[in-house]
Amino acid sequence: MRLPIIAGNWKMYKTIEETIEFVTSLRGLLKDVPDDKVEIVICPPFVNLQAAASVIKGSNIKLGAQNLFPKQEGAYTGEVSPLMLRSVGCSYVIIGHSERREYFKETNEFINEKVKVAIEYGITPIMCVGEKLEEREKGLTFDVVKDHVVNGLKGISKDKVQHVVIAYEPVWAIGTGKTATPQQAEEVQKYIRKLLSEMYDEQTAQTIRIQYGGSVKPENIKELMACENIDGALVGGASLKADSFEQIVKFYK
Ligand code: PEP
Repeated sequence: MRLPIIAGNWKMYKTIEETIEFVTSLRGLLKDVPDDKVEIVICPPFVNLQAAASVIKGSNIKLGAQNLFPKQEGAYTGEVSPLMLRSVGCSYVIIGHSERREYFKETNEFINEKVKVAIEYGITPIMCVGEKLEEREKGLTFDVVKDHVVNGLKGISKDKVQHVVIAYEPVWAIGTGKTATPQQAEEVQKYIRKLLSEMYDEQTAQTIRIQYGGSVKPENIKELMACENIDGALVGGASLKADSFEQIVKFYK
């Protein structure tokens, strides 16, 4: 049985003051969520990680970052290392989000380096994959997803890949209010699992968690989570409000 994982990607939102207020309220709202029902992760911007870490201490909420630079330390102005993320208390890191692929020209090769380094430092990577609208319209969805998965996981062994979470995020559904239907999401997520079984083996593929991301909200989480190959959600906009994130986390109720 794969433990569902709901992660909130805050993107570039919230100041430190807002973070403390928001996470304090979230901690209270989510305190009764059992660990064996769902894993809860919040991914604030770098500068808010420490504030969030102190508020969630001893709770059922885990901390994630939105990116890392794949070196322990060095002359890389403006970057943040996995060692720093670990020391602030991050156990997750989002890698290869479509906004980073698009605006910061991140390639599969660079994403692969980051995934490997995250694993090396004991931080679970949430590796994002997914097609753009024009790629879907040209019938290229599976090709694009295959390219992202195969190259993003290049050189990662069977025992290590089990620590990776994959987030299928069709780019056309991110921040647009346009969610993939459960059928559309399940079709691709099933394909990803099949791909993983070919790259590794069936047993390994069955252990890897695959989230769906793209305009997830309280109104659609239940039907998405009812799909066999959807093991959680990566949530952007709806993770910024305590009540909507609470309802998403409590999808099982
Ligand atoms: C995301 O940021 O990964 C995301 C899926 O955003 P949204 O939920 O706002 O579409």
